[in-house]
Amino acid sequence: MTAYREFHRRSIADREGFWDEQARLVHWQKPFSKVLDYSRPPFAKWFVGGQTNLCYNAIDRHLEARGDQKALVWISTEVDAQKTFTYRELHAEVQRAAAMMQALGVKQGDRVVIYMPMIPEAAFAILACARIGAVHSVVFGGFAAASLAARIDDAKPKLMITADGGSRMGKVVLYKSLVDEALRVARHPPEKVLIFRRGLDANMASVAGRDVEWRDLAQKHAGAQVPCAWLESNESSYILYTSGTTGHPKGVQRDVGGHAVALAASMKHLYCGEAGETMFTTSDIGWVVGHSYIIYAPLIAGMTTIMYEGVPVRPDAGIWWKIVQDHKVAVMFSAPTAIRVLKKQDPAYMKKYDLSSLKHLFLAGEPLDEPTHVWITESLGRLVIDHYWQTETGWPLLSAHPGVEKTPLKMGSPSFPCYGYDVRLLHETTGKEVADGEKGVVAIKPPLPPGCMATVWGDDARFVETYFRSFPGQLVYTTFDWGIRDKDGYYFILGRTDDVINVAGHRLGTREIEEAVNMHPNIAECAVVGVADPVKGQMPLAFAVAKTHVEDQKKLEKEVMETVDKQLGAIARPRAVHFVTLLPKTRSGKTLRRSIQALAEGRDPGDLTTIEDPGALQQIKDALR
Ligand code: ATP
Ligand code: MG
Repeated sequence: MTAYREFHRRSIADREGFWDEQARLVHWQKPFSKVLDYSRPPFAKWFVGGQTNLCYNAIDRHLEARGDQKALVWISTEVDAQKTFTYRELHAEVQRAAAMMQALGVKQGDRVVIYMPMIPEAAFAILACARIGAVHSVVFGGFAAASLAARIDDAKPKLMITADGGSRMGKVVLYKSLVDEALRVARHPPEKVLIFRRGLDANMASVAGRDVEWRDLAQKHAGAQVPCAWLESNESSYILYTSGTTGHPKGVQRDVGGHAVALAASMKHLYCGEAGETMFTTSDIGWVVGHSYIIYAPLIAGMTTIMYEGVPVRPDAGIWWKIVQDHKVAVMFSAPTAIRVLKKQDPAYMKKYDLSSLKHLFLAGEPLDEPTHVWITESLGRLVIDHYWQTETGWPLLSAHPGVEKTPLKMGSPSFPCYGYDVRLLHETTGKEVADGEKGVVAIKPPLPPGCMATVWGDDARFVETYFRSFPGQLVYTTFDWGIRDKDGYYFILGRTDDVINVAGHRLGTREIEEAVNMHPNIAECAVVGVADPVKGQMPLAFAVAKTHVEDQKKLEKEVMETVDKQLGAIARPRAVHFVTLLPKTRSGKTLRRSIQALAEGRDPGDLTTIEDPGALQQIKDALR
């Protein structure tokens, strides 16, 4: 592990030297005068005085060497279509979109809220903002009108871009009518709304003087040439509101230069994505993973990126692997929740396609339990790399570094701290570092590396308060997750700090218990929550999805409890195991444990606007009855 260790050591011991080198991976129109300005902790300014542009790095820089190479491949199994754009074509589309935005009054520094389905125009809009120095804020298409309005009021956009509709599981989702609803209640509505009409909503209403049709405007700007705005490295590139699993959404603000360097470096050291190869990230542009690894990073690296509108099981559970085969995908990025969905399907689908192009599958977003990690590794016959990060960091915080050294993986572990992150595990109350094998709160000693959030949009005080004040007397960034490090230096994430159950004075992470439940061979996935108990304070309660139909629930429940006893001891044994066919999750695939817990304790389940399928909550209610 010497190469990795030395790489990481140097990134902390000689921050400036290390990042100065990484900065050479991107184009600087004007060189920076200082690698890091940390004169106002915890605010870190990277590559001070340097001028660059994200869109230039993602597109223009490649035109000479790979203008005719595919840049963006859009595949929709929802509307059964596919489109390909070379770097040259993408360059033209983005310039046209930029000209359209300028015609609608958008200037450098203005915000543009993008509320769009997974279509190429969404990518054009994002890159066009980057090109002219407008700040995009992409809002995930699953948010309800009130949530969208709250984000609009915080970002105060000059322009909104949307589409008439999207499609999910073959059903039309009306985007524009939801935008109209949000704008009726928003206090800071934009002057203009640009709409890409897909023909999914024949009855789409239009507001005269405000609404503009993409196609009409595009016609007027065919062949437009819009130069890149050269931005100081610390200008804002975008705002992205965190998904809100843990409460009121925060506007994560990202810079330009640090962001470009961090993404370029991650493609080299972590993802091993080479120019000319293809990357397939199964996320959505509304999430941070979509920003970083559908749009920016693969393009900055000169790769072909796949943008997929659809679900993993339609037309059948082989669709992703067909895409890997047909487009010779080298790097793939998905989430544990999707893998658990596939685990319930016929594994033969994975064997049907030629996956020889695939180097690695990366997974992030929530804990990857060991049984699922083993299952997908064996099914694919490829390295499956669990890595851990957040909307706030923009790129991984813990990961294996196959581009630096091929260290062995441990199932269920996202391996080691990424270069640039001084990761500490701190004792919850004393704030002191814990020993190997002891549970601690995952924290980062600032400065945060390039690419991480610069601040909370419009609220520096909230940035410091929210992230850096968990331990009195210490300025450390807390991630709100529990972790443990084994004697070999591997980290394991035990779940969120608010997902801890206190059973008769024993503190147990919900993740640990979920892992134990998942060890039973007939369990596909589960959610464990703590519910108030008059005797023990709290007791774990499990909701599990079985792989096969359960004839005898009592028998399976007993077996699952015995499995937990064996793994963790009787103290962790759930009070009951309820069987459901699906778990309540956000559209980004995160289990809504807080809502389950609220229902179990007879409280209001809270904000459910991003829930994937409300039927899942009904199943929890029925099971509790
Ligand atoms: P919010 O912060 O708004 O409540 P969120 O934390 O779910 O929402 P994200 O930034 O998308 O929003 O998710 C980051 C979190 O996801 C991490 O803090 C961690 O809890 C979890 N996570 C991500 N990757 C992993 C992983 N590989 N293993 C375990 N947990 C992970
Ligand atoms: Mg979070």
